[in-house]
Parts: sequence; C-alpha cells; structure tokens
Amino acid sequence: MSFDASLVTRLAPSPTGAQHLGNARTYLITWLLARQRGGRVVLRIEDIDSPRVKPGAAEQAQDDLRWLGLDWDDGPIVQSQRLALYESALAQLQARELVYPCTCTRSDVEQAASAPHAEGVEPVYPGTCAFRRAADAEALRDRPFAWRFRLSEPATFTDRFRGAVTLSREEIGGDFVVWKSQRSPAYQLSVVVDDAANGVTCVVRGDDLVASTPRQLALYSALRLPPPEFAHVPLVVGPDGRRLAKRHGDTRLSALRSAGIAPETVIGLLSWSCGWQDRIEPIAARDLIRHFALARIPPKPFVLTPELLETIGYRG
Ligand code: GLU
Ligand code: ZN
Repeated sequence: MSFDASLVTRLAPSPTGAQHLGNARTYLITWLLARQRGGRVVLRIEDIDSPRVKPGAAEQAQDDLRWLGLDWDDGPIVQSQRLALYESALAQLQARELVYPCTCTRSDVEQAASAPHAEGVEPVYPGTCAFRRAADAEALRDRPFAWRFRLSEPATFTDRFRGAVTLSREEIGGDFVVWKSQRSPAYQLSVVVDDAANGVTCVVRGDDLVASTPRQLALYSALRLPPPEFAHVPLVVGPDGRRLAKRHGDTRLSALRSAGIAPETVIGLLSWSCGWQDRIEPIAARDLIRHFALARIPPKPFVLTPELLETIGYRG
C-alpha cells in the first residue's frame, strides 16, 4: 500500500446521541485508511443540529474514540463555533443566484411531490419556490423560509469503495436545503465548508450518505472549492436488516465498556466483519494498520446478531 502523506480524512461524530458499534466500524475504517497511508486525521464535532444535540455527548464521543485506540492530529473542530464561515458561504451562493428562499413546509413538499416516496425518504422537491430570486427574501421577512440550492449538476462520481455511482435527480431529491428556517446552516452546507476548510482529501462515511454526495459535489463546484474523494462503506444492521438501533440491544460503546468488554475485543469483532481477520480475536487498532484493506470489506451491510455479541462475551 503506497504512502500518501497528503491524505487527510476526518472523524465527524454528531453529538445527538451515543456512539455505537456501527459508528465505531466507520471510524475504524477511516482511521486505518489514514494511518496506513501516513496521512492525517481531523476530528470534527457536528453539533449544529441543535435541538437534537445532547449535553455531554461530544465529550463522550471523544472518550469512546480514545477507548477504541483511535486518535487524531487536528481538532476537535466544533461546528457551532464556525457559523460565520457558513454564513459567508451562503452569501456567495446568494450573490450567484444559486439559492432561493423557500417557504414550503414539510407537508407542502410532501403533498406537491408527484412520485410516491417511501417512509423516511425525503420526497423530491417539486421546485415550487424556484421562481424566486435571492433578493425576494427581503419581502419574506416575517415568514419563515429556508434557502434551497438549484441543483443542475449531472450526478456521477467515482467512489473509492463502490466505484462509479450515478444517481438520478429523484434519487438525490432535487433542489435541496442549505440553510434552515431557524437561522442555521443545513448539514449539506456545513459539511462542505468544513471538509474544504479542514483540507480533507478523502471522506470516509456510511453509505446512508451516498445520496448526499452529489449535492455536496454541486456545492464544491458552486463555491469553487476542490472536492475530496469519497468512500462510502456499508453500515451495520440488525438481524432485521435495519440500521442498528435500540431495538437491537444496547450496542453503545459506553455500554460495552461498562460491561467490562475490552476495546481490543470490539476492534477484533469489527476487523473480522471487515474481512481483515479470519477469526474473531482481540487486536488493538494500531496492530490492524498493516492488515487494513478497503477492498476487502464486504459490500453488503454487516449484520450484527445477538450470537455475535455473545461470542465477544456481551449480553446487550
Ligand atoms: N456527522 C455525521 C454522522 O455522524 C457524519 C456526516 C459525514 O460523515 O459527512 O452521521
Ligand atoms: Zn418552496
């Protein structure tokens, strides 16, 4: 594996809840990629989703990472302290008429969207407010509105893990929100501003975010910033095939830790799930650096069963 000291990646926990085994797997992959190449790791706390941010969760996430044996070279960079940067990015998009004020409520969008959409999936924005110019926001002062980005880019990119990815406008969701009505930046904008400002060259994250990537690439281009590479890795799911959640037992890292499970045991399970070890046996994160291979990770989600948890001596 070649050395690439210019590689910069990041760990970006959202302190909206506890970090669990699913988060840990993505963090491990991200960290190993950087450490194997001799690159850098930035820690960023994505805490601008304020109503859902839990007190103490950012500190807990850092404790969890340290416990796993994962470190970082820069940060923590805290998004809630960087609002001025996001505001200036929004101002650039406004000046170029790349965003417009949108007064639609969630239910307006749902009703206007022609295609049926699955539960939990955002409906495609039908363009109701796309006729507006940025300056029209002045006249909307007393009405809540969001800023939406005019999506026109073709949505194809090469994923370092998945290969060529092409998504339709429907799959991307059409024009998307970059600034929420509560005077706060949306994830799509803050993540692009920060990944660029933090010099991130390779974003590794869960594949639930694949559909966000074309939106973010469109923002890189609109803001004239160089885009990073992306590697979207499979998530951890429960036996029912759904994303790891409370109903699958307590898989919080803090719970495993209080139950006396060693971090090497957790890393051993994750390493086996990624195809780097043939058996589930304890190993420290740093000892995995030479075994790491992105291409060896199975493309399907990792199904975490109660039996596997029992194998590591845990009855969540
Ligand atoms: N903060 C996000 C999360 O914890 C990650 C966003 C990203 O990696 O772009 O799910
Ligand atoms: Zn609208």
